[in-house]
Amino acid sequence: MAYQALYRKWRPADFSSMVSQEAIVSTLRNQIITGRIAHAYLFCGSRGTGKTSAAKIMARAVNCESPVNGDPCGKCESCLRLAAEESMDVMEIDAASNNGVDEIRDLRETVKYPPQHGRFKVYIIDEVHMLSASAFNALLKTLEEPPAYVVFILATTEPQKLPATILSRCQRFDFGRIPAMQIVGRLRQAVEGAQATATDSALNMIARAAEGGMRDALSILDMCLGYQSDVTDELVRNVLGTSDRYFLFRFTDALEGEDAGEVMRMIDELMRKGREPMVFAREMSQHMRALLMAKTCPDELANLLDLTQETAYEYVEQAEEMTVTRLMRMLELFMSVETELRYASSPRLALENVALKCCLRTQEVDARALTDRIVQLEKKLAELTEKIASGAVVAAAPKAKAEPKAAAPKKTEAPKPKVLTPTGRSAEDAWKEAVKTLQKGNPMVYGFLSFGRFAGCDGTLYRWAANPAPGAEMYVGMLNKPQNVQAICAALTDAAGVESRFEAVMPQADQTGPADEEESLLTALGETFERANVIVQDEPK
Ligand SMILES: [Zn+2]
Repeated sequence: MAYQALYRKWRPADFSSMVSQEAIVSTLRNQIITGRIAHAYLFCGSRGTGKTSAAKIMARAVNCESPVNGDPCGKCESCLRLAAEESMDVMEIDAASNNGVDEIRDLRETVKYPPQHGRFKVYIIDEVHMLSASAFNALLKTLEEPPAYVVFILATTEPQKLPATILSRCQRFDFGRIPAMQIVGRLRQAVEGAQATATDSALNMIARAAEGGMRDALSILDMCLGYQSDVTDELVRNVLGTSDRYFLFRFTDALEGEDAGEVMRMIDELMRKGREPMVFAREMSQHMRALLMAKTCPDELANLLDLTQETAYEYVEQAEEMTVTRLMRMLELFMSVETELRYASSPRLALENVALKCCLRTQEVDARALTDRIVQLEKKLAELTEKIASGAVVAAAPKAKAEPKAAAPKKTEAPKPKVLTPTGRSAEDAWKEAVKTLQKGNPMVYGFLSFGRFAGCDGTLYRWAANPAPGAEMYVGMLNKPQNVQAICAALTDAAGVESRFEAVMPQADQTGPADEEESLLTALGETFERANVIVQDEPK
């Protein structure tokens, strides 16, 4: 038998075996059960999030003679015919090939004839945004008055490119990126199916690199298994090479750690793999921008940059280690080297030069670098002051003898910007800490939480509000189940150091009000420059 790519082999045959997209799956299932099938569906979402799989399952389910709980039975004549791809009742059109003009013309011809075997004729149009204007017009005519036996399933990664006339005629479903945890689960099945072995961290690395796309994840695993049947961390790193986000995180760690040796080694690795210094500098600029955003609006990061929650957390975590000034300085350096690289006789030298500037900040004398160093010192001082105030340093490091003097006046001067929990964390930080704990200990609850956001804390009552999106009610319901509330409260209690309560609520009207934004910006500025030093002034007219 010919080799079958893993992503084909593991393509789900029914809704039950689909990974993630729970809200969409349950709506589609319900439509099959109640027989309320729409004439046109639009499946949107990035690569490998399950659009085509869901479309294929839907095509089988609408034609199945005896669906089981909304799933195609897999046994009836229609199911068997479709599985063998012998049926003319389901047609797949790839709009990416020659703009689909001929295919849409054919479609308009064949749509007149009722299905041969099943109840419905299903047209799946992949990458529908690639259709030419004339093909769209032709499609629109059919969508306006579809025969009763026709179902259209349009799939696209770029819904914003579709004309409003098409959008308004479709029932739209947005497929989110698949959480890394769930991708790891499927990878594990695939590894076992292939009678191979893999470490957890190797699979984690693959899932992270795939950024929420199952298809990419399985393709990377396929590549790894092509080398050897034991998938190790080192193998994954080699297969991914220097091309993934992981490399950018490591490189930034080395810069922040002022580890010039490691930085030079990593640049050497890039060059040996034939990477373009200019492209890498641009990627580093993007990375710095993402870290700056993580610093200023951590809760919105996943949405703003279209990342999985896990990747967003990695940015937030790395950004926590760095100051805004430092990030801005690095961003500036990498942006300036982009132009420099265009004319540099040795691009490698220019890249090494900028990396060293980022790295060896203590050697630099220009104003920016000095500000950076002052901010760094202030940060260290503030940390120390806080530790001394809480008694942690005195016990741990008796050497810090001169500090208490500096601590005393400082403490009375600086007003605390936020209400702190007994562990010294702000309510929001306690919430973040609790979410991190849940990510490790209770991935299901963590998954539900990613469909909304922290909505404030009254004393010890923490609130989470669902995002205003389909399925909000279901997530609220799931999170308010006693066993889930209990798990969340336990994590919160740990993080806050006081018995805490939890409640999930429906989306709030003022969820992203301007006041909220202003507050989070102030908080971010306050964290960097001390709240007392931040003066809010109206814009001059
Ligand atoms: Zn069937």
